[in-house]
Amino acid sequence: MSEFKRVLVTAALPYANGPIHIGHLAGCYIPADIYVRFLRAQNKDVKFIGGSDEHGVPITIRAMKEGVSPQQIVDRYHEQIKHSFGQMGISFDIYSRTSSPVHHETAAAFFKKLYDDGLFEEKESEQYYDEKTNTFLADRYIIGTCPVCGNDNAYGDQCEKCGSSLSPEQLINPRSALSDAIPVKKNKTLVFSIAEL
Ligand SMILES: [Zn+2]
Repeated sequence: MSEFKRVLVTAALPYANGPIHIGHLAGCYIPADIYVRFLRAQNKDVKFIGGSDEHGVPITIRAMKEGVSPQQIVDRYHEQIKHSFGQMGISFDIYSRTSSPVHHETAAAFFKKLYDDGLFEEKESEQYYDEKTNTFLADRYIIGTCPVCGNDNAYGDQCEKCGSSLSPEQLINPRSALSDAIPVKKNKTLVFSIAEL
């Protein structure tokens, strides 16, 4: 094993849109916890950091389906997940949330620096749009039938039944996850991409 002065261990951040289950624990948190306990037993300087991922489309979609705010969803599941980890004895030194101000500030500082250094370019592009809710739709907000396995609830980026990577164009009978409206392509969305160097 390499000799590091300090060791930082982290494990995949669970999405705060549902409870964790035994598969999460077996595949991710228990192995990390065993490793951390092994290092601690050797008096290594180790920190085990985790947290709930409170940003992302699955949270927004769940909130819309339940008719509550995304904040209510993440507050509920962050507490539930944190409690489950505690009960399972997963020995995080810090279990935080991606919504903490320090994370917003740090992430924003990265992008602000890239922007200030002129590394972004602004472009116009076509994007799918939901005319019922007047919202541009990320690929994940578009649902339809998977052309590979026929699953009726495949996402515009991936079919979770057969694992195929998809684009919204490949879905059969695409519909908006927000309203069931048929997505239309609309222009004039500003997207930012890192300029070619
Ligand atoms: Zn499929």
